[in-house]
Amino acid sequence: MIETPEFMPVGTQATVKALTPGDLHAAGAQMILGNTYHLNLRPTSERIARLGGLHRFMAWDGPILTDSGGFQVFSLADLRRVDDAGVTFTSHLDGSTHRLDPERAMEIQSLLGSDIAMALDQLVDPGLPRAEVADAMERTHRWAARSLHARGRPDQAVFGIIQGGVDPELRRASAAAISALPFDGIAIGGLSVGESKAQMAATLDVVADALEGDQRPRYLMGVGSPVDFFTAVERGIDLFDCVLPTRVARTGQVWTDAGRLNLRNAVFQDDPGPIDPACACEACRNHSRAYLAHLFRARELLAYRVASVHNVTWTLTLLRRLRAALADGSFNALRDQIIANFRRDVDNPVPD
Ligand SMILES: [Zn+2]
Repeated sequence: MIETPEFMPVGTQATVKALTPGDLHAAGAQMILGNTYHLNLRPTSERIARLGGLHRFMAWDGPILTDSGGFQVFSLADLRRVDDAGVTFTSHLDGSTHRLDPERAMEIQSLLGSDIAMALDQLVDPGLPRAEVADAMERTHRWAARSLHARGRPDQAVFGIIQGGVDPELRRASAAAISALPFDGIAIGGLSVGESKAQMAATLDVVADALEGDQRPRYLMGVGSPVDFFTAVERGIDLFDCVLPTRVARTGQVWTDAGRLNLRNAVFQDDPGPIDPACACEACRNHSRAYLAHLFRARELLAYRVASVHNVTWTLTLLRRLRAALADGSFNALRDQIIANFRRDVDNPVPD
């Protein structure tokens, strides 16, 4: 059991970049995500299974959710060919040819031994013609049924994925089709791929309406900015994952209660204060902004770890505060504070 709403740090290559399992526990992580596409190309799911499964391989004893590999196949791999049976693609690593279908995606996740597996879906650009978005959605529904049929282990939960781009009717139809199947949880895919914030919110409204009364956990895939958490939780979302907190940390951008700071900015070279005075992470207890500003300028490896420790801790702490705010009725106040500080873009803004 994990407390929700919750954010899952992303361990793409059997590691949340720059962080040890001990760092993740200290940051308060309950569950992390592993990427099937990457792990199956290297070191391969069969090798991880021989070495005792993904938990043991990466020394993470908490729950792990694995994705199906579909997102990376459709966003990262080269030379894709999709048919109803599955998708053929070439590896972005070495150009070798691979085949992924719903049954193989379930087999790989069974070999990895994750606690939650995802059904294979077909992601498309929501800006494509409606017929193409609808075609991918229908295929996703057929693959969802095959994924359930292929589930291999009774100790592994399986989530289905709603697609349908930003078209309200397609999203409604997809929510109905996926929720009609006996999945353990319902995911919403195909968002945070270039659509506007308003389109994301409107799509989540449609899905929330279509899933009304459904008690299963709801997971919004690939979303993880401070403002998006509030937009989505208001619309019934329980789980999130995103590379954003660790990816931006490695560029020197840290998230604080006052908004974003870019530690590469000259002003921080003489700042003796912590990254965020309200944060209790190892970085904020021990190090100054000036020290971090120096590490980033010197390109010292410690910069990546320390900034990642802070951003993951701050993000997971934000979710803990969000859960407390839901319980005590102060959700709107916390939401308004975060929106104000992350819209003000105190320093060197990046888009959410
Ligand atoms: Zn901190």
